[in-house]
This record gives sequence, C-alpha cells and structure tokens, in this order.
Amino acid sequence: MEFENRHKNQKKKVCPVMKKCGGCRYQDISYERQLELKQAQVAKLLKPFCRVYPITGMEHPYHYRNKVHAVFDRLKDGTIISGVYEEKTHRVVPVDDCLIEDEKADAIIRDIRGMLRSFKIKTYDEDTGYGLLRHVLVRRGFATGQIMVVLVLGSPILPSKNNFIRELRKLHPEITTIVINVNDKKTSMVLGEKENVIYGKGYIEDVLCGQTFRISPKSFYQVNPVQTEKLYQKAIKLAGLTGKERVIDAYCGIGTIGICAANRAREVIGVELNRDAVRDAVRNAKMNEKKNISFYGADAGEFMTQMAAQGERADVLFMDPPRSGSSEAFMRAAVRLGPKRIVYISCNPETQARDLNYFTANGYRAQGAYPYDCFPFTGHTETVCLLVKSGKA
Ligand code: SAH
Repeated sequence: MEFENRHKNQKKKVCPVMKKCGGCRYQDISYERQLELKQAQVAKLLKPFCRVYPITGMEHPYHYRNKVHAVFDRLKDGTIISGVYEEKTHRVVPVDDCLIEDEKADAIIRDIRGMLRSFKIKTYDEDTGYGLLRHVLVRRGFATGQIMVVLVLGSPILPSKNNFIRELRKLHPEITTIVINVNDKKTSMVLGEKENVIYGKGYIEDVLCGQTFRISPKSFYQVNPVQTEKLYQKAIKLAGLTGKERVIDAYCGIGTIGICAANRAREVIGVELNRDAVRDAVRNAKMNEKKNISFYGADAGEFMTQMAAQGERADVLFMDPPRSGSSEAFMRAAVRLGPKRIVYISCNPETQARDLNYFTANGYRAQGAYPYDCFPFTGHTETVCLLVKSGKA
C-alpha cells in the first residue's frame, strides 16, 4: 500500500494520561500503522460504493491542533489543575502538555493556571456552582500567528481584569484577543451564550488556500489547517468547476470551502446553522472580495427543502455535515435540486456510508473516496467522496 507523505522519523513519545484522556486511541501505534488502520476502516465502510484511494497522512503528525480546550478544577488539597475530562466522566485529568495540541496554546493554559492564585480567581465547581473559571479555550491561526484566549466563567465579572490582561500579555505578547464567555448553566456544553471582548478584536484570522478567514469563538473551524488545505484542494478539484456553475456549500461554517471555490463558479450559496459562523462567513466573503457568494443562516435540510419546493436548481453541491451526518430531508431535497456533482466531505465514515446508501439508491453514483488523516493519533479520519448524477433513480 502506498501513502503520500510517508512519515519518516517516528519519534517515540508516550503520554502519561493516554488511558484516562482517551483522545489518542492510536498513541502507542507507529504512525505508518495508524494510517494503515484508518485506510482499512474507511475501505471497509466505503468500498461497497466506490474505489477508496490511499490515505493522505501528515509529515509531522504532532502538535497539529490549532484549538485547545482545558477544563479547570481544584483538588481536595487546594491544588489547581487544568486538563481534560476523563473519558465518559466529569472527573478532570490534569494535562500539562499534549502530543497533538499546539504547544504555544498549552503554555498559555499552564500560565493562566499559575496566575489564578495571585488573582484570587477560584475554579468553578460543577456540583455547587461556586467559583468562577470553568474552561479556557485557546485558538491560534497557524498562518497569521494570531491567538485568541477565551475565558469561560460561571459569572460575568473577572476580578482585576485589566491587571490580568496585562500580566497574561506580558507572558505571551502573541495573544491578540481575549474574550470572556459566560456559562452559568449546568451543562456539558463548554461555551455559554454571552460574550464580552476584553482585549483586541474578539476574533482571530487565519489563511487557508490563499484566502483570509476570521474566526469567532463559537464558529467552527477545522482543527488541522495543514491537512484541511490538502482536503479542500481535492474537494474543489473533484467539483470540476468551469466558472459557469451554481454551487451550494452546505454546512458551510465560516464559508471556507465556498469562498475558496468562488472564483471558479458563477454563483455560490452557503448555508449554516450557527449564527456567529454565518456572520463570520459574510465578512469573510467581503474581505476576500467575493461578490458572487451569499450566505444563509438556517438548518441546511430546511433550506434545501425550501429551494427544491421553489423549483430551484444547482450544478454542484458541497456538503460537510457534522459527525452525525446529513438528514434524509436534506438528501431528498439535494436530489431534487439535481446537481451533476456532489462533493461529500465527512469527519465520520460511518454516517457517510449511511448517507451514500441514500444517494446511490436515488440517482447518484459514487466515483471515489479520498481519506485524509486530519486527526493523527486519534481514531478519526476525514474523507471526501465524489458522487456523480447517473440519471437512474
Ligand atoms: N464546511 C465547514 C464547516 C464544517 S463542520 C468547514 O470546513 O470549516 C459542520 C458545520 O455544520 C458546523 O459549522 C455546524 O455549525 C454546521 N451545522 C450543524 N448542523 C447543521 C444543520 N442542521 N444545518 C446547517 N448547518 C449545520
């Protein structure tokens, strides 16, 4: 079996919290073997539909995550810890550094933890609702170097706010924005509704496929930009655009795929549920001077159903649903809109296989699936699959 970017210098590192964290299921397995396992898993699921091409791996599969989330807690002896929830529980496993997370982000989280005592900031207790700091989220634009820190608090006031900002920025001058997010609910969701920008612009920017994107705290953005760029290039190539097409970018997030494809299409329509992401997408289109793209904030299934009911047509459909996959309402409407090509990007080959079942039973032929390792050391794989209209329902 042939892999692109075969990983040459496998470093031997072992994570002390591997078992409890559960994130890196493949950690004690060589990178080459990981790619083989992922290839086999995707092949098993998608081979019934089409050829599965060799997986594209990473040359340096470490510290690729541009987004790091840490939950804060206090031990019985008063020691403050930060890390991840133990798999399937709400116990916090302390993490100082992580094999796959951005190292700068980990350093920022460690330093915030070190500052809490002198600022008399207590960690939040999920059972009693007492305390302040719940989570810290750090996002870094790998291409721009811009860094966002989100402090998720149980109530809106951060004591000695200005000193806190000054101290943190002294330690990490690369931080370009700091946002307070208020989450006062008993919930396993990390981010709450309310936000207050206390330093900088409230978002960061990154560059992908030559286009600049702004990313707000609550907007989805791919966590591995190195692999995402390869994946998008493949997706856009598979779409076979000539400049004449009407394109739909469904589940579009901050508009990345549609904006990267806009120069090769007549018109692009993006649809996305998350309001903050839609706002980012609209600004991103403007920033990158794309005049032929428009974005709609809606459930993708409802939006497509409405388009189909109005007798609209589309030439190409990009779809990139969440792990749960698409809905039957979405796919039914997609078929009615009649795109010649559907480029289906997925972070879960199981739901993708389920959805390919629908499309291939309703007038589409799968022409090839291309796996990308966007999540080394974890059990996850991203795939892009091309479906072509065959005319036979
Ligand atoms: N294509 C984007 C985002 C993919 S992630 C990118 O590559 O960056 C999936 C996106 O689907 C998320 O932004 C999520 O907010 C959105 N989403 C989830 N359920 C949705 C629904 N029912 N309708 C529309 N968008 C949805």
